[in-house]
Amino acid sequence: VPADVAGLLLSRIRDVPDYPRPGIVFKDITPLLADPEAFSALTDELAAFCRRHGATKVVGLEARGFILAAPVAVRAGLGFVPVRKAGKLPGATLSQAYELEYGSAEIEIHAEDLTADDRVLVIDDVLATGGTAEASLRLIRRSGARVAGLAVLMELKFLDGRERVLPELDGAPYQAL
Ligand code: AMP
Repeated sequence: VPADVAGLLLSRIRDVPDYPRPGIVFKDITPLLADPEAFSALTDELAAFCRRHGATKVVGLEARGFILAAPVAVRAGLGFVPVRKAGKLPGATLSQAYELEYGSAEIEIHAEDLTADDRVLVIDDVLATGGTAEASLRLIRRSGARVAGLAVLMELKFLDGRERVLPELDGAPYQAL
């Protein structure tokens, strides 16, 4: 990512201390979404990442991943597929459980939306522990599709989420803008 673009994106992310719980610094992307220049620059970068790595589908992770991934799919000329929290998709789903700090969660995808010929690029806003992205990549591989890569706007480096997702990427590219 060019330095001026990275600077613009960073300047539009608001740190909100102690939200939603004490001790968490929430990375609020709503200022970026509200700025057409920044949102468009982010969309361009992610669409270029899709093209560079031969993606055929773009997967967005609920919920902020949807907002970023949908315009990327349109700009790259690709289909968009949502990974949703369990119980939200009406069709036949594949589901994947994963561990959270306290308890566990489950995500789902419509099985019919991906085929063995697809190369899937996964997009989310923040990589924290990496649990959500890791489970999503596993879900995509279980669908029979191939993973083209993972792109996030931000990585919280101190949580080492990268180490958790790299094995699941199996050599496919990872980018934190
Ligand atoms: P994780 O599974 O721990 O990598 O968490 C990633 C998911 O939680 C992403 O979908 C993010 O949107 C959200 N998330 C985690 N930590 C933060 C944070 N500090 N600020 C904003 N979103 C976060």
